[in-house]
Amino acid sequence: AGHVVILGAGHAGGTAAALLRQYGYEGHITLVGEEPIPPYQRPPLSKAWLKGEANADDLTLKPVEFYAESKIDFRPNLKGVQIDRKDRRVTLSDGSVITYDTLILATGARPIALPLPGADLEGVLFLRTAADAEALKAQVGPGKRLAVVGGGYIGLEVAASGRALGAEVVVLERENRLLARVACEALSDFFKGYHETKGVAFELGCSVTGFVGDAGHITGVLLESGRIVPCDAAVVGVGVRPNDEIAREARLEVGRGVIVDLDARTSDPAIFAIGDVTERPMAHYDNRMFRPESVPSALEQSKQAAAAICGRPRPAPEVPWNWSDQYDLKLQIAGLPFDADDLLIRGDPSTGRFAVFHLKGDIVQSVESINSPPEFMMGKQLIGSKKPVSRAKLADPTISMKEVAV
Ligand code: FAD
Repeated sequence: AGHVVILGAGHAGGTAAALLRQYGYEGHITLVGEEPIPPYQRPPLSKAWLKGEANADDLTLKPVEFYAESKIDFRPNLKGVQIDRKDRRVTLSDGSVITYDTLILATGARPIALPLPGADLEGVLFLRTAADAEALKAQVGPGKRLAVVGGGYIGLEVAASGRALGAEVVVLERENRLLARVACEALSDFFKGYHETKGVAFELGCSVTGFVGDAGHITGVLLESGRIVPCDAAVVGVGVRPNDEIAREARLEVGRGVIVDLDARTSDPAIFAIGDVTERPMAHYDNRMFRPESVPSALEQSKQAAAAICGRPRPAPEVPWNWSDQYDLKLQIAGLPFDADDLLIRGDPSTGRFAVFHLKGDIVQSVESINSPPEFMMGKQLIGSKKPVSRAKLADPTISMKEVAV
């Protein structure tokens, strides 16, 4: 009946294992994960969980019994270290070797480390795993000073949660604006202003050159200017890099991640790759290659791989989307701003409710919406349908989103 081996028991790997059973796969499934716990959701680690509004059970994808009940051999605390494609074998970190008919790489990504002096001090933290989040939570509380290195989504979410817990927060960002890599300037300005009203301090355009400490614990972040920003803990959130080494060593095609097709298949037909480790074609954008880092993309690729393995039709392509929660702000993003030649703001940012549409001609390429679910939902539909819109109507928030298509 075959054997599917999944390396990586995160959001993508856990979902793929469950879907294989749901789609009727009757062979063996082995789910190998480096972490000690079954697959869980990471988004709450910087949001509800960090603020104490969710517990560990709220994070798990499936209760631990699910795996045994579904005849999924879940093997925690183990890593895949080598793939032998010729004999279809994987060597695990305990030295054991397992054979596969189909292999799924779902190894995710890890935070980019800053190889700077003092980076090994206690209190210099990252946020990717539940264990990381536990360590961070222990350092954040009333009166504690938290330095956040990197003004991306994770950094800003940690800043918001830190404030909710009563910490003093300063965000240190190398670029001259927040979210420089992922959002437009209007959104960067909006988030900066909003965080400032909540008491977060910002240092933009500043380069972190090290961490200083006392008795092995961090006491400050050193800037290029020589200034030290005092803190009790620092969280480094400067992006992630895919865990694709095992694929590179096996000579699979790897670019900015493991390269896959619309079935999530790699350059080896017996090996699939899903989630943050992949660089994948974006069906709504002429199959342009991209490396999304999001739960919806991980879920979509889990479906693609499970369907292909079970001989089911390829699922319809989904418009990429993503979200971020900060304070009472719900940011929802649909699409990718590829080749956009203009952007249009619908609504007034000062009200805390608006949306930024990125257009290519009169076609919506992407939308970034703040507390505006109709703009997000209709925007996502318009991206999927590629229906042209009237710019005048789109710019007028008194005209319903249902009426903006021409
Ligand atoms: P992961 O969930 O990272 O899982 C990969 C797993 O593989 C890990 O457990 C890893 O330890 C394990 N592993 C690595 N190498 C090996 C190996 N060789 N052998 C075995 N196991 C291995 N996305 C959103 O869409 N919205 C959000 O709001 C959002 N917020 C986030 C907040 C935080 C704090 C973080 C960290 C991420 C957030 N993300 C968010 C991103 C989202 O969590 C990821 O896109 C998603 O987890 C990707 O799933 P994955 O299975 O590919 O990788």
